[in-house]
Amino acid sequence: MSVVLDGSPASEGIASGRVFLVDWGVPTVPHETVPADRVEAELARFDAARAWAAQRLRELQATTEERLGSVEARIFEPQVLMLDDQEVVEGTRRYITENHLAAPRAFEWRMLELQAMWSRTAQPMVLDRLNDLEDLMIRVLNRMLDRPDPSDLARADGGAILVARNLSPSLMVHLDPEHVLGVATDQGTRTAHWAILARSLEIPAVVGLGTVSRNAHTGMEAILDGRVGRIVLEPDASDHAVYQSRRRQIERWADEIVVIAEQESVTSDGQPVSLRANLDLPIEADAARRHGAQGVGLFRTEFLVVGRNSMPSEEEQYESYRKVVEAFPDDAVYVRTFDLGGDKFPMFLHMPREENPFLGWRAIRVCLDEPELFRTQLRALLRATAHGDLRIMLPLINDVDEVRRVRDMLEVEEDLLSSEGIPYNRGYKLGIMIETPAAALEAAELARHSDFFSIGTNDLVQYTLAVDRTNTRLAHLYNPFHPAIVRQLHQVSRVSRAAGIEVSVCGEMAADPLGAFLMLGLDIMALSVAWPSLPEIKRVIRDVRVEDARTAARQALAASTTEEVVKCLVDGMSGSVDLKVFSGRWRLSLPG
Ligand code: PEP
Ligand code: MG
Repeated sequence: MSVVLDGSPASEGIASGRVFLVDWGVPTVPHETVPADRVEAELARFDAARAWAAQRLRELQATTEERLGSVEARIFEPQVLMLDDQEVVEGTRRYITENHLAAPRAFEWRMLELQAMWSRTAQPMVLDRLNDLEDLMIRVLNRMLDRPDPSDLARADGGAILVARNLSPSLMVHLDPEHVLGVATDQGTRTAHWAILARSLEIPAVVGLGTVSRNAHTGMEAILDGRVGRIVLEPDASDHAVYQSRRRQIERWADEIVVIAEQESVTSDGQPVSLRANLDLPIEADAARRHGAQGVGLFRTEFLVVGRNSMPSEEEQYESYRKVVEAFPDDAVYVRTFDLGGDKFPMFLHMPREENPFLGWRAIRVCLDEPELFRTQLRALLRATAHGDLRIMLPLINDVDEVRRVRDMLEVEEDLLSSEGIPYNRGYKLGIMIETPAAALEAAELARHSDFFSIGTNDLVQYTLAVDRTNTRLAHLYNPFHPAIVRQLHQVSRVSRAAGIEVSVCGEMAADPLGAFLMLGLDIMALSVAWPSLPEIKRVIRDVRVEDARTAARQALAASTTEEVVKCLVDGMSGSVDLKVFSGRWRLSLPG
């Protein structure tokens, strides 16, 4: 009988094949002490393993840079730094010199100590750091114990679905997408570095499956669905039939994508809709263009800081922003300033542990309190405006004063750039994200200080309904089609039109067919979605009539329950779109 395990989707796509179990675990280290005259030799053994690991990591960095780019290659920095970290090195040396432990045992003890210390916090970015620590521990211990480097074992033969307790960036970059059909892990988060890499390499991945490495063994058959976050082990005939049809759908779809990418984003009754891409990494710009993006509606910049030990330099940031802007010479690119806190914590900021991080020191609040970090970003952004239509977008704005303070900071940086003779576009636009009910209610006031609005429904839903967006237990209550959300979208749209500023939506709701239909009905004619969703949403746009969307939205605005809202939209769309085409791929909106 098949075993179905549900986890979190980390990278799109479906894979079906044989499991390859990767034992990327810490080796068993024998307890060994040494006589005093061997201490020097053990110290040398430790140093030699460190030097080897540094060399290996540098090689990995070079391969990654070649395959994926310099930003991705930096994911190895925390490990390289850890190799020389005094906490690691001195702690291990002390165990060798004072306790006369053999080098592997001394190193293992020290790393376990650090692991225990860091594990006391549950913050996701600390969890990523723990991944780095474990990765390094495996590598250095294997070296000292004369075992082969496990990353060499990761070249799965033929097509395979890799299953592991957890993965590491260094293992991930070894994986050739030609041979690795998919990846499934017990642990991990979508924001783990290796998951980000999986997305860049377009390898389907599911994380947080709990026990998959215990349930699966090498050679077992499996089907992995990176879109819904599921793995089916030993699938039976009916599982195969379901996934065959999903796969066929996706394959047909892949052929259509090429055609759709070239088509205009316009409703069947002639209403143009700007359809842009959300990007998490600069490297995604190419895929977004291939999928027909008309610019970038949300470029999340946290990749520059998360998991890093030091602040990104102005130059590095400027190059990243410039790269994306230059990829879209004819379109706008909305770059969001750092949205830190919540579930994203850079190591160098030493952010305090908070009881409610999503209600805490997050996004614009962090930036305004950390002028050194923020000024550097603003300056890099201003410099990048010289290369195209880069627009600066501020997250989690609640009131006008926050916008004013940013404008003041920008003015200072503009003056400095002018006096230094560094070019920037004086006519650049500054806008805000509408992500809280406070911002939606204050939209008229905020519109006087903003050049555009972009509605971040992911947060707007969590703050309106008081449902933590990361809490799986409350997932059924996280409801984007709640009437309170529909009314706020309507209010923000009306206000922007009256103020003559653009309004767009860049939350996941825009990537849902019903959500997109609702937005058009509310006169929100700019949508930004993750690039894999672009063709699907464009097809919805091209299939529907804006007049039908307006009628459905009017009815939805009068609805008193979520079910009624969804029904108005389904009824409004069903004449022009076969919603079943999307079923199974769109868990968010389809009833049942
Ligand atoms: C949102 O909140 O809808 C949004 C797009 O921002 P993020 O998902 O990065 O918080
Ligand atoms: Mg948000």
